[in-house]
Amino acid sequence: MTDPENVIIVGSGPAGYTAALYTARANLEPLVVEGFMWGGLLQQTTDVENFPGYPEGVMGPEMMQQLRDQAERFGTRFITDEATRIELAQEPGGVHHVWVGDEEHRARTVVLAMGAEHKKLSVPGEEELAGRGVSFCATCDAAFFKDRPTIVVGGGDSAMEEAIFLAKFASRVMVVHRRDEFRASRIMLDRARATSNLELLTPYTIESFEAPAAGGLELVRLRHAESGEERTLEAAGAFIAVGHEPTSGLVAGQVELDANDYVVVQGRSTRTGRPGVFAAGDVVDHTYRQAITAAGTGCQAALDAEWYLRDTPEVPTPAAMPAGHVAEAHWSSDDGAAVTAGDTPAAY
Ligand code: NAP
Repeated sequence: MTDPENVIIVGSGPAGYTAALYTARANLEPLVVEGFMWGGLLQQTTDVENFPGYPEGVMGPEMMQQLRDQAERFGTRFITDEATRIELAQEPGGVHHVWVGDEEHRARTVVLAMGAEHKKLSVPGEEELAGRGVSFCATCDAAFFKDRPTIVVGGGDSAMEEAIFLAKFASRVMVVHRRDEFRASRIMLDRARATSNLELLTPYTIESFEAPAAGGLELVRLRHAESGEERTLEAAGAFIAVGHEPTSGLVAGQVELDANDYVVVQGRSTRTGRPGVFAAGDVVDHTYRQAITAAGTGCQAALDAEWYLRDTPEVPTPAAMPAGHVAEAHWSSDDGAAVTAGDTPAAY
């Protein structure tokens, strides 16, 4: 371990672990702050059939274990806890700070790979009944609804995947979507339509989730998106699959975010506006959002970080210097003037 670290990777989906694999193989000894629930959203999926190299498909959690193992094999270190604060240096060569609770870690480069989290509907009952019928993960919770009526909200691939999985347990799965057209891919839609206890209901929006007996979810109130007609469905479980939101809160105000809070990178690179800070995966990508594209940008971020470290001398700030460092003298100069990046001493 070096202090500051060469690279800290925050996040542990396909982007984070691929960045770790590449930086580890470049002998940069990466440190991954992988979160308590490491592995990202793929930990909550079932079959992954579209990641190249798995002709028979692979379960999401198994694939994430393999990506993690591969990064570990080349010397990646992991902190299985959440990053709680990030402070990014502004000057080229500056040292970035990542906190995990009270523990402070310093690094010359940071790869932001925090991914995305489930988007919420923000309707009454959604929050109150979370864990009592309302869920964001069929893989995790479907078994609780054996032979019970359920709904899935959404019209994308996630909604179809959740619904098809849920149909193995529930008596009935009603997929409620706000438009008549689905965003889901043809193959997923065809599979959903071929599932006998699964129905598609459109165009309806969710008004509220209700538990009249103050126990778990019993009713879902819907509204027809065109006529405004109200309708009630009986449901013991409701699975919300309406997309994702980038997990960029820790760096808001430090790197540029777009209108939907995705981290903005420069051109086809993974560079953010802060020198030595790179971003990859779903925290950046609002278009493709696939495991394989996230892994690809994780690789790019690792290479961008490697090139940055090669080309950028450390700025000798007091915070960055170990005691007795050769550059320390510059900071204790008689006039006390700060040394800036452009003044990096030749001897350094
Ligand atoms: P998505 O494609 O963005 O679909 C989100 C769905 O939720 C859309 O149908 C959207 O409706 C609906 N929605 C969004 N906000 C809503 C709201 N406030 N109220 C009601 N409905 C709302 O997201 P996703 O399904 O999570 O998929 C994300 C990416 O992962 C996609 O690229 C997908 O292909 C990929 N994925 C692939 C697989 C697979 O291949 N096995 C599985 C899961 C995900 P509108 O259509 O009206 O906007």
